Formats: sequence, structure tokens, C-alpha cells
Amino acid sequence: MVSHARASYPNECCGAMLGTTDGENKIVVESMALENAFEGAKAARYELRPEDLLAADKAARERNMDLIGIYHSHPDCDAYFSKTDLQNSCPWYSFVVLSIQKGEFHHANSWLPNFDQTEAAKEELSY
Ligand SMILES: [Zn+2]
Repeated sequence: MVSHARASYPNECCGAMLGTTDGENKIVVESMALENAFEGAKAARYELRPEDLLAADKAARERNMDLIGIYHSHPDCDAYFSKTDLQNSCPWYSFVVLSIQKGEFHHANSWLPNFDQTEAAKEELSY
């Protein structure tokens, strides 16, 4: 995820996180790079194609895993969860945001949107 985010700089990258759930903990086993399909300036926004997400979900199930979340990068920006991120989120996925500063990985946060997609709680992230 970090190397994908660095390679995509100064654009935002996005991808799927495949893994398992152990009680309260979600464990990312594999990440899958997906194309940022946003038609405008990719430095400030990302968009996932629904068919790419479906393919990631299928790939996860074929490997006895689940699609547990989505990651994307924020070039030269903090790893916060923006209003657009919230609007484009799904309450059942974890959203990892990677902050890439001047092309290098800086920090990451994980966010869990509520069901109304009005706010996202910060999750504990260990890596
Ligand atoms: Zn974002």
C-alpha cells in the first residue's frame, strides 16, 4: 500500500484491502491496487469503479478472505477523512488513508464511517 501510494505520487492512489476479521480486529492480509478512475485532477481525488470493487470482493472470497476495506492516499496532505471521502464511503468497510509528503510515506490513519455516513471514527491502526 505504501509503495503503491509512493509510486502514484503526486496523484492519489486507491486500492482494496483483503483480509479477515478476528472479533473486533480486522487483519489486512493482502492489498490490491486498483485504478484511480477519477476523470478530473487525480491529485485531489480518487474514484473506484464499482466493477473493480466487485472483482476485489470476488478475489477475496476465492482466497477465503473478505474485502475488509479500501485504502487511498493523500499527497502532501494529512491522513484525515475528508467530507468527500465520507460521502463516497460505505459503513461496513474500514478506510485507510496514507499521507504521502513530498513523495515519501508520512503516516496513515484508519477510519470507520457510521451508518448514516455523517462521521467516521478513527480506528486503531497497527502496521
Ligand atoms: Zn481522501
